[in-house]
Formats: sequence, structure tokens, C-alpha cells
Amino acid sequence: MLRVSGLAAGYGMLEVLKDVTAEVGDREVVTLLGPNGAGKTTLFRAVAGQIKPMRGRIDFGGHDLTRLSIWQIARLGIGYVPEGRQLFGTLTVADNLDLGSAHARPAARRYRRQQMDFAFALFPILGERQRQLAGTLSGGQQQMLAIARAIMARPQFLILDEPSLGLAPQVVRSIFQAVRAIHDEGVGVLLIEQNATALTISDRVYVMERGRIVLSKRAAEVNRAESVQRFYLGGATPPVTGDA
Ligand code: ATP
Repeated sequence: MLRVSGLAAGYGMLEVLKDVTAEVGDREVVTLLGPNGAGKTTLFRAVAGQIKPMRGRIDFGGHDLTRLSIWQIARLGIGYVPEGRQLFGTLTVADNLDLGSAHARPAARRYRRQQMDFAFALFPILGERQRQLAGTLSGGQQQMLAIARAIMARPQFLILDEPSLGLAPQVVRSIFQAVRAIHDEGVGVLLIEQNATALTISDRVYVMERGRIVLSKRAAEVNRAESVQRFYLGGATPPVTGDA
């Protein structure tokens, strides 16, 4: 469904992504793991059309995204949950959700009520706090709202950039379970993370270091110690024994 081939992208003269090839099928949850500065958000921005690639292709559902504008890409049915959530803090929970459906494809707007019910079933606390200002929610609740806003547009595919950032382990687990539940409704998922707990809900994993994919495996085959070594310690091989 989403395929990135030979992608190079960056900022000005700086080439951050170097020959990245990866794909996510519509029946998969795929995690892209990597340390700070590896280029994960740059990949997110390239897929969203926020930066234009230097080389390579990004295919989604038969369209080459590198040829489309940011608006055309937004209408293709990809939902984005950006790093830092980017909510409207002075608007209510309900208003933030409505903004999510306002950006939907016209055909998807008919499902506003249904998607809102789905969002509240996933995150009951949001249903209870519909009139609360988004900026006054806890970090975990804000992350839930950012995900709920994205699913208001009834996406076929969802890309999340570090939804676990700054959250307690228990909150992270419930966010990841919700991501899996969204996938179970037929949504392909690319989960960008530094937190290896993401592997527990993933079918496959890519590890990115310094703008390159250095590991591609089924999640069930990844030895946690190996992945933790690679992405936290930059490929060094310290004497780690047992499961990390
Ligand atoms: P993090 O987990 O810290 O967000 P990341 O893997 O998402 O890391 P990127 O944000 O993609 O990494 O950054 C990759 C490289 O690109 C870094 O060296 C960073 O300094 C650089 N970079 C990011 N944004 C810009 C920008 N707007 N202009 C110039 N360089 C940038």
C-alpha cells in the first residue's frame, strides 16, 4: 500500500535520508525504529508532502506522492499523527475532532458521527471530556486526541510519529493497543518510534540509523536485545546478554 523506493530527502543541501526503501502493506502494522536524528521525522515529512524528495519514489495506492501537492496527498486517505501532537490547545476536544473530519475526503465526511463514536470507544476519557480545552488535557490524553483527530478523516492508512514520546509506560501500552485496534478495523499502520515496546503490536520492523535502513525483520523474529543495542547504541556491540 505504501512503498518508498530509493528515497533521498533532507533540508537544503543536507541529505538526511539516503536510499531508503521500505514498504507497508494494508494488512500490516510496521514500526520504523531509530535513535534521535536518524531521519524518522524526515521520512514522515516526505510521505506527507511537507518536503520534496531529492531522489526516489513514494507510492501509495497507485499514486506517486512525490508528484502531488501536500493537499492532494491529504485527500488520498492517509492519516497523520505528527510528533508533538500539534493540537489546537485553546479549542475543545470536540472542536479538535471536528477539525479532523473537516480535512477528510468529501466521501469520508459522511462518517463523522461513526468515526467519533469509534474514537470515544477507543479512548473513553475523550468522550467524557468533549468540552474540555485540549491544552488542559494530560500528555497521554493529548496524544489520544491527536490519534482520534486523525481517524476522524476515516483514513485507510495511518502514520504516527513517536506517539509514546514523554509518556509513562502504562499510557504508552494503552496508546499502542489503540493503534492495534485501529489497524484491526482495516487500517494499514506505519508507526515511527524510539520505544521498542512498539514491537509488541507490530508485524514487521525496520531499524533506521543515520538515514539508512539497517535492519528489516518480522517483529516476532527480532531479539529485543539486538534491536535495543542497534538503535540506542548506534550499532555498537556491547556485551548484552539475555533479553533487554
Ligand atoms: P527525533 O527522534 O529526534 O525526532 P528523527 O529520527 O525523527 O529524530 P529527524 O528529525 O528526521 O530525525 O532529523 C534528522 C536530521 O535532520 C537531524 O540531523 C536533524 O538535525 C536534521 N533536521 C531535521 N529537521 C531539519 C530542518 N528543518 N532543517 C535542517 N535540518 C533538519
